[in-house]
Amino acid sequence: MSENRLSMLRQEVDRLNERILGLVQGRGELVLEIAKIKQAHGLDGYDPQRELEMLQRLTATASGPFGPEEVKEIFRTIFRASLDLQDVQRRRALHVRRRDLVPPGGIRIGEVAIGAGKPVLFAGPCSVETPEQMDAIAAYLAPLPVPKILRAGAFKPRTSPYTFQGLREEGLKILRRTAERHSLATVTEVLDTSTLDLVADYTDMLQIGARNMYNTELLKAVGRLRKPVLLKRGFMATLEELLLSAEYILSQGNEQVVLCERGMRTFETSTRNTLDISAVPLLRHETSLPVIVDLSHALGRRDIIAPCARAALASGAEGLMVEVHPCPDQALSDGFQQLDPSACSALLQSLGWEPPERAGAIPDLVVSSDAFAEAQHHD
Ligand code: PEP
Ligand code: MN
Repeated sequence: MSENRLSMLRQEVDRLNERILGLVQGRGELVLEIAKIKQAHGLDGYDPQRELEMLQRLTATASGPFGPEEVKEIFRTIFRASLDLQDVQRRRALHVRRRDLVPPGGIRIGEVAIGAGKPVLFAGPCSVETPEQMDAIAAYLAPLPVPKILRAGAFKPRTSPYTFQGLREEGLKILRRTAERHSLATVTEVLDTSTLDLVADYTDMLQIGARNMYNTELLKAVGRLRKPVLLKRGFMATLEELLLSAEYILSQGNEQVVLCERGMRTFETSTRNTLDISAVPLLRHETSLPVIVDLSHALGRRDIIAPCARAALASGAEGLMVEVHPCPDQALSDGFQQLDPSACSALLQSLGWEPPERAGAIPDLVVSSDAFAEAQHHD
């Protein structure tokens, strides 16, 4: 008899569970509809006042075995789950997650296509220093049988205000003249909104550096231009933050964005930063924007560039950045990590990107405390 009653009660509990589930799901659908309306009006999904009012109403009318505290706890859980639901929806709705951001021909910078299947080499000195220095590097790069973009900074974000800050407009002019002489496309860094128009006039692609990844006004401003942007990951930025920075640019209508992993700060001291190879497949999973790897700033040393470049390509990178200087020992910035042309050719040869004739020797692996100390320079 009591067994019959028990099984009846359990069946009733099962039925109630199903009804509760149906109600919770129905509530979830309503919440998503409300979120859509709020989003269309630029309103935040979370409304603490409304949540408080709902809880007050529910606890005031609560009668039955559950007291006000338990009712609060149950509904708080439902509210939290609803917010998570909105988050998932919001994340899915981001421009940056669209799978069709890059046209089949890739993001075009002059003749070069990024994200069209063939990895692109971003190479050049850390800074523009002289017309002769730029000419030497451009003359080396131009005949290389790979798609390439000439990089060099004219506005330099240096750690110390007393070190070389870049040639500014003069540097932009040298970069432009050199690129035109050698028919190369260019990328150079823009540091702030006040110099954006100037920099944009001289270069084919704008670089937002690691230190500026969180500069939302600059991100929005480059988003309003229709020029390709190379967006570097901040050295303490999560991938989610990098994607949201890209979203700032995309939200203003500029979809020509290339993401760049350039190493991040960790406790490791043998490299300047720690190259996060996992970022490449993870970013490629989250977005269709092309992803490249900056080996020079990630590693801060020359001797392990080749194996790390192979790892970057194997993980799906659609381009590599390396700093190349005709005479790295005399460079005005980042001399310790720049390759000379023959070491660059050795790297390209090891990747199968250049025939062996032009290649010099791959720098030896230097496992010494000197190399570790050099890798620690932070600008
Ligand atoms: C650079 O590429 O010149 C540079 C300064 O890089 P990052 O912003 O990654 O430090
Ligand atoms: Mn540099």
